[in-house]
Order: sequence, then structure tokens, then C-alpha cells
Amino acid sequence: MKILGIDPTHCFIGGRWQPSQAGETLELVNPSDGSTLCQIAKGIADDIDRSVEAAQAALSGDWGRATAAERGRVLAKIGQLVLQNIDELARLEALDVGKPLTQARADAMALARYMEFYGGAADKLHGETIPYLDGYTVYTLREPHGVTGHIVPWNYPMQIIGRSVGAALATGNACVLKPAEEACLTALAFAELARQAGLPDGALNVVPGLGAEAGAALSHHPSVRHLSFTGSVPVGKLIQKAAADNVVPVTLELGGKSPQLVFEDADLQDALPFLVNAGIQNAGQTCSASSRILVHESRFDDVVAAMAKAYSALRAGPALRDLNVGPLVSRRQKDIVESFIAKGKDLKIVSQGQVVDDAPAGGAYVAPTLFANVTPDHVLAQDEIFGPVQVVIPFSTEDEAVAIANGTPFGLVASCWTKDGSRQMRLAKKLHAGQVFLNNYGAGGGVELPFGGHGLSGHGREKGFEALYGFTSLKTVAARHG
Ligand code: NAP
Ligand code: MG
Repeated sequence: MKILGIDPTHCFIGGRWQPSQAGETLELVNPSDGSTLCQIAKGIADDIDRSVEAAQAALSGDWGRATAAERGRVLAKIGQLVLQNIDELARLEALDVGKPLTQARADAMALARYMEFYGGAADKLHGETIPYLDGYTVYTLREPHGVTGHIVPWNYPMQIIGRSVGAALATGNACVLKPAEEACLTALAFAELARQAGLPDGALNVVPGLGAEAGAALSHHPSVRHLSFTGSVPVGKLIQKAAADNVVPVTLELGGKSPQLVFEDADLQDALPFLVNAGIQNAGQTCSASSRILVHESRFDDVVAAMAKAYSALRAGPALRDLNVGPLVSRRQKDIVESFIAKGKDLKIVSQGQVVDDAPAGGAYVAPTLFANVTPDHVLAQDEIFGPVQVVIPFSTEDEAVAIANGTPFGLVASCWTKDGSRQMRLAKKLHAGQVFLNNYGAGGGVELPFGGHGLSGHGREKGFEALYGFTSLKTVAARHG
């Protein structure tokens, strides 16, 4: 299999496609049918070392000398190439991670938007002058960290590469990217498009491989000056420990258990598509998935009935069939999600979607599943499931709703459905989340909107202009001139 003309058994290091130093490959599986899709490079610590050296060379060469406007121009050009290749990117993602084509295309569009947004922002980030003592002029400079490490999961490879690599390149860093071994095809395609757009050699390096090998080598590398990680809580803790050893900043985005609160005055017809889609999009494998629906007792039966009807119409099947839901990313993820559904055997499943009859037996399919009358402390209402499973929880007062919403160790996203403006303002402040949506959820992806969590959801902010601050280090210059 070729990707945009390149061979996925190669890493992208220093602007060249080269095999891993291990000389080994890993098998990539198509989760829609369990077949082998292709072999990919099994990058190891040596490949990470060479990537970091290439990134350092880029920083002391053409890339380090590029003006902010030139960096912006090359990012914009990458964005154009992403748009020109959007069908190929969507197809690759659909085959690799099982994402239905329409959703894969939306991810590719978001990748293009990140390149446009950060390309446009590159020459608009500046320092300040600070009033100080008589005879002094004081100003600040925003400087790149240097070599940045990006460890990306399998659920939204293109979006997560866009938001982290895009912001890092815009601010003049040089990147080493370790995609998930289950989802590296679009990362490799992105590197090829960046090369074609004229990104200088070494500014972006991509090393596919195992997390415990290539990922660990990247996170521990003493010359990597910033780490950006999205993925599970246990691995996030390892990354933070590695960052502590090298005393470098780290951004962690570790998922959540995000609630939508439906009050007695909510417009249910308006809310319904958001309530359901936020749970089943990407088969629920979304860090900001809304896996808990909290409903005022007066509307509980209405909401459960409407959601049950919507669930019964959901169809899961092969990614290229482009149904509501594709397979999960792997058989392993399917087993995890099914073990969660089994933990709900004491609960009532109110509705399930269907896996289409002709779905290949080797595919990683799970029927979307809705549970109602779940108590807030139940494992299904507390743990991140990362599958197409939602729970509906009743509440009777606003205070109770807030207590339930804030009653998990996570805090990534929350939303409120209410027409009461005062309540909207109160809840926007009271909810523990990095993003609060009022009468909507997810705001259509919103590359412009800062994003990140509290508690076990992680820390640091990506997306929007805010991400640019995280990828720069502030220097204060105090000149005494009399
Ligand atoms: P994961 O292990 O945390 O993987 C995320 C990334 O970290 C991948 O690139 C992975 O590489 C890498 N990695 C793994 N071990 C590493 C290590 N010791 N050092 C450095 N990098 C390492 O996530 P997962 O196992 O694929 O998924 C398990 C659960 O994590 C899911 O069920 C879900 O709950 C959560 N998750 C959350 C998000 C999110 O968006 N917040 C995304 C994905 C998963 P390899 O995959 O190549 O090993
Ligand atoms: Mg795969």
C-alpha cells in the first residue's frame, strides 16, 4: 500500500523517508474487517534520536531563520494541500481507524483549518512593552521552546496533529511526532504534504512505532523541550513523570466524562441531535464525548423516550459504508467497551442501535447502547468508557445537577440546555470544565476555541490562540539606558 506515493514502512526524518533503524515493521489492521491493511515502520529510540538531531539542525538552519510570516505561509500552503487531498486523507483514516467517511472527512477539514488558523496567527503573536523605572525600556519576547515532542492517540489523529503540531510550527518550534501505532497513516500523509509545501527539512519528523518504545524514548529525550500528549490517564502520568525528570513543560489531554444538563425549560427538539451525537460520534471514542446526560425529573421520561427512538435508528457498519457508527479502532478497544457494557447488567438498557447484518465478522463492532436511571456513582457514570455508550441520570434541583456534573475526577467539557439566562451564567461559572457550552455541544469542532481540562482530564490548553502561548517561552528584556 502506498500513501500519497510513499511507503508507510518508512519514518520521516530530516525531510527524508527512511526505514526504522530496527529494520522491523508492525502490522496495521483494518478494524472494519480485521484484515491486514499494510505494514508500518517500527520506530525505536535510535529513530527518535535521529529525529531530535534533525529537528535541532532545522532550528539552527532554514527553519530557525524563517520569519513569522514565512512560517505562516508554509502552514497555509500545507492547509491548501490538505484540502486538495481531502478525499485520500479521509479514505486513509476510514481504513486505518474505522471512522465513517463523513466523519473522517470532517477531521481532514479540521486539519486544514488548523493550518489556516495557525498559519494566519504566526505573525500576529507578539510580546509587550512594560512600564518600569525611569531610564529603562522593558519588553517581552515570545520564543519557541526548541524541539517539541508530540504523542498522538488513535481517535482523532488529524485533528490532534493539526492542533499541536500546527501551533508548535507557527511559533517556530521543530517537531518530533509519534503517532499511535494503530493510526499512523494520516500522520505520514501529513508529513508528505508538509514536505511538498516546502516545510524545511527537520522541522517536522514522524516516527511511527510502539508507545513503550518510540513514545517512551521521545518523552524521556533530554533535548526535547516541550511535550504534548493526548491519550489515557495512566500513560499521561508516565509522560508527566518523564517531563519532570527533564524539567520541561507538558500539556496533557486525558479525556473525560463530560455531562450535558437538560433543564425543565430546555428545547428538547433542538437538544436531541446534540445529546445523541456527542455520545456516538466516532463510536464514542472521543475525549470530549458526552457520555452522561443529566435530566430534570420533569423531562426525564421525554428525554429517555426521544433518545431511545434515536438510538434504535442508529446503524453500525464498515467505515466505507459511512453509516452513523463505524467499528471501534481495534478488537482490544471492543473488548474494553463490551466489558463496560457487561458492568451495566444490573441496569436497564433502554435502547440499542444495530450492527448491520452483513458487517464482516472480523470487524470491531459494538452496537450503540443507552442506559437510563443510572445512579451518579455507578461505574458507567464515573469511568471513561470510550465507546458508543451513554447513561441518562435524573436530577431534581439545579444544585443537585451541578453536584452530579462535577462529581467525577474529570473536567473537560460540559453543556447546559436551558432558556433561563441567569441559570446559564451561574452554571457556566460553577461547572468544572475547560469548555462550557450553552444550548449547544462541541460548537462544531471550533479550531479557534481554547480546549483542555481540569483534574484527570489533564492540564494546559490547546486550540485557538491560547495554544500559541503554551508553545512559547516568554523572555523579559530590561534595558537601562538612562
Ligand atoms: P494510550 O496508550 O494512552 O495511547 C496514546 C498515545 O500514547 C499513543 O501514541 C501511544 O502509542 C502512546 N504511548 C503508549 N504508551 C506510552 C509510553 N509508555 N510512553 C510514551 N507514549 C506512550 O491510549 P490507548 O491505550 O490507545 O487507549 C486506551 C484508553 O485511553 C482508551 O480506552 C481511552 O479511555 C483513553 N484514550 C483517550 C484519548 C483522548 O483523546 N483523551 C485518546 C485515546 C485513548 P501506541 O498506541 O503506539 O502504543
Ligand atoms: Mg488501524
